[in-house]
Amino acid sequence: MRVLVIGSGGREHALCRSLAADPQVTEVHCAPGNAGVAQVATLHPVTPTDPAAVSRLASELGADLVVVGPEAPLVAGVADAVREAGIPCFGPSRDAARIEGSKAFAKDVMVAAGVPTARSRTCVTPEEAAAALDEFGTPYVVKDDGLAAGKGVVVTDDRDEALRHAASCGRVVIEEFLDGPEVSLFALCDGSTAVPLQPAQDHKRAYDGDKGPNTGGMGAYTPLPWAPGDLTDRVMAETVIPTVTELARRGTPYTGVLFVGLALTAEGPKVIEFNARFGDPETQVVLDRLETPLAGLLLACADGTLGGFGPLSYRDGAAVTVVIAAEDYPADPVKGDVIEGLSDTVENAYVLHSGTALDGDRIVSNGGRVLSVVGTGPDVAAARAAAYEAVGRIRMRGSHHRTDIGHSA
Ligand code: AMP
Repeated sequence: MRVLVIGSGGREHALCRSLAADPQVTEVHCAPGNAGVAQVATLHPVTPTDPAAVSRLASELGADLVVVGPEAPLVAGVADAVREAGIPCFGPSRDAARIEGSKAFAKDVMVAAGVPTARSRTCVTPEEAAAALDEFGTPYVVKDDGLAAGKGVVVTDDRDEALRHAASCGRVVIEEFLDGPEVSLFALCDGSTAVPLQPAQDHKRAYDGDKGPNTGGMGAYTPLPWAPGDLTDRVMAETVIPTVTELARRGTPYTGVLFVGLALTAEGPKVIEFNARFGDPETQVVLDRLETPLAGLLLACADGTLGGFGPLSYRDGAAVTVVIAAEDYPADPVKGDVIEGLSDTVENAYVLHSGTALDGDRIVSNGGRVLSVVGTGPDVAAARAAAYEAVGRIRMRGSHHRTDIGHSA
C-alpha cells in the first residue's frame, strides 16, 4: 500500500510512524510534513488546504489511501476532492466535518441523536447571549460557533467577560458547565459503523497544575486507570453509534475519526465537543499502544468495510507524551531556535516532531508546539519516568514543558 498523510504536526508524525510500521505499507508520503516526519515518509511541499492540489498529488503518487490529519483541510473539502478522484480517503467530507466546524451544527446533531451533552442555546444578539448566561449560571461557557483552533471557548465566572467574548464572536453557543474529569475517545468510523480506540487524557493548560492559558494540548497519557470499566462501551452506545447513524440519516455519512471530548460528570459521560480528526497529542499515545496494523484499519474505514474488521488489539502497559513548546507559546511562539540532544536516545522513549524544520543540517523550531516526547512502560508511572528522562536530554533556548503530565493517573 502507498499511503499519503496530510498535515505537519506531532499527530501526523505519529500517524506516519505507525503507518510505516504496517507490513502492508510499502511507501508513506506526507504533505507537507516536518523535519521529523521526513525520517519515516517522503515529503511533498503541497498546501494541505488546497483540495485540487492534494487530490492531484494523491493521483500522481498512485496512493491507495489518503489520511487527512488536521481539521482545516477537511473543512476545505480535501476528503471530498480525494474521493472524487477515486482514491479511498480517511477523513470526513466537508459537510460531515461541520460536526467540528460548527458548534451549533454539532449541538443540533447531538439533540437529534439523543446524545448526552450540556444543555445549550445558540445566540446571535447581546440580549440572547445575556439571557442564556443567566439561564445556565456560573461558570459561564461561551463558544464561538466557527472553527477557532481550540481558542474559541471561554469558561469564566465573570459575566462581563462572557458577554464581551460573545460580542466578539458573533454567533455563539452558550451552554451549561459540565463538571468532571475530561476524557478523549477516538472512534474510527466507516460511514455506517464505528470502532473505538483506547481513551486518553490531554492536558490543555500551558502550565503545571492546570494553570495558565489554554493550548492545543501540552501532553497526554493512556490508558486511564481511574476511568470506569464500562466507559468505552457506554460512550459507543450512547454517543458514537447514535451520532454516526444520525449523520448517515441526514445524507452526510461520517468517514474518519470522530473525536469525542467528554466530561465524566456525576450523571455519566457527557459530550463537551466533537472533533473531526485525531487529537494532538492524544494520538501520539493511543497509536503507540495500538497493535493492530494501522493502514488496513484506516482503509477499512475509507472503503466502508469496518463491519468485517476483527477486534483491535493493544499492547499491555501505558504511554505518556510530553510536549516541548517554544518560548512564549501559546501567545506568540518564537521560531527558529536550534534543537539539540535529539540523537541522545533513552530506552522506552522516542521523540515525535510537532513544529520543526531543517535549517541546513540543523533541526530548528518552527511552531508553538515543537516536539512530543513519548515514553512507554508497564504503567503510567513508568511511562512518565521514561518520557521525562528523554525530555531532560533535549535542549532548546526558551522552551517550556509541563512536569505533571499523567500525574493525575
Ligand atoms: P472545546 O473547544 O469545546 O473543546 O472547549 C475547550 C475546553 O473548554 C474544553 O476542553 C473544556 O476544558 C472547556 N469546556 C468546553 N465546554 C465546556 C462545558 N460545557 N463545561 C465545562 N468545560 C467546558
